[in-house]
Amino acid sequence: MIKDKVVLITGASSGIGEAAAKLIASKGAKVVLGARREDKLKQIADEIKNAGGEAVYQALDVTKPADNEAIVKLAKDSFGRLDAIFLNAGLMPVSPVSAVKTDEWKQMVDVNINGVLNGVAAVMPTFTEQKSGHILAVSSVAGLKAYPGTAVYGGTKWFVRDFMEVLRMESAMEGTNIRTATLYPAAINTELLDTITDKGSADGMQQVYDAFGISPDRIADVVAFALDMPEDTNVSEFTVGPANQP
Ligand code: NDP
Repeated sequence: MIKDKVVLITGASSGIGEAAAKLIASKGAKVVLGARREDKLKQIADEIKNAGGEAVYQALDVTKPADNEAIVKLAKDSFGRLDAIFLNAGLMPVSPVSAVKTDEWKQMVDVNINGVLNGVAAVMPTFTEQKSGHILAVSSVAGLKAYPGTAVYGGTKWFVRDFMEVLRMESAMEGTNIRTATLYPAAINTELLDTITDKGSADGMQQVYDAFGISPDRIADVVAFALDMPEDTNVSEFTVGPANQP
């Protein structure tokens, strides 16, 4: 059951992370919010507390292992334990390979891949010791299918898919009772397009989101559903997107 679970959310300052934090807090989860924009985290934590929920927050750059370890410590110091982590922080500065935007390629690898690994590394000792834990991660439909323009972004999300499936299998084999859930969203209206610097890619993506984008609250619903499952059940994969997006 979701009530009283302690859940750490990376990338909680906007979009899917913010929506998930608010929804699961309203259902009784104790949320630990991390992202780089501390002012936004404070605002969201205040909103949750004013609505009767429990929330703490701390500045987190997922590319820094020490930041990930520090926020896990905050969760345990604040609420006595940690039950789940939602690895949601991500960036999508897409462009064609021919544009050779190497800084953006590196940024996506750092945040979308290394950020996930740092989060998993930070929670794994706790989850292994308590023989229970839930790791949820956001991949993308671009982690299921190739799309022109998303070579590096999609690659980072294929990584998440593979990593999470191997983690699920190893956890089952080792009997650690660590559950996994991987989400594959399609067009969700958030701040995700803001980092795109390639004009053609930005215009193309904007058209798709204008035509199809749905609320991040729908992804939050799925996060809540996964967290609410009994300990003996793993719902490992969700593809969620607009009903009218081909
Ligand atoms: P947003 O841009 O609204 O949210 C991204 C979040 O990631 C922000 O809270 C941002 O916070 C955080 N973030 C970025 N870099 C870092 C970092 N180095 N350390 C910590 N936090 C960081 O977009 P979404 O809500 O859409 O994105 C959430 C996830 O969903 C991403 O992984 C994205 O790839 C994935 N996704 C989104 C889809 C969509 O259509 N929106 C579709 C498929 C997948 P801050 O800037 O404060 O650090």
